[in-house]
Amino acid sequence: MSTRIDVRIPDHNDRVPTPPPIPPACPNCRQGVLWKDTRADQKDSGKNHWRWWCGNCQKRFRPTEEHLRRFA
Ligand SMILES: [Zn+2]
Repeated sequence: MSTRIDVRIPDHNDRVPTPPPIPPACPNCRQGVLWKDTRADQKDSGKNHWRWWCGNCQKRFRPTEEHLRRFA
């Protein structure tokens, strides 16, 4: 009984750039796509201080902890 395992050695093709995460939809109007507003609250440099900004209803939202990690 042979246990032959095909191991694919990754070549240069494995360096596919990961696509940027898709921003969440606006929780207020549910029509707009949220943008990162990095100009807001930059009092503490080095920290993640940005807000979501909806291009449709112009509202700002606090990003969640997960958003801070994924969209940093
Ligand atoms: Zn909105």
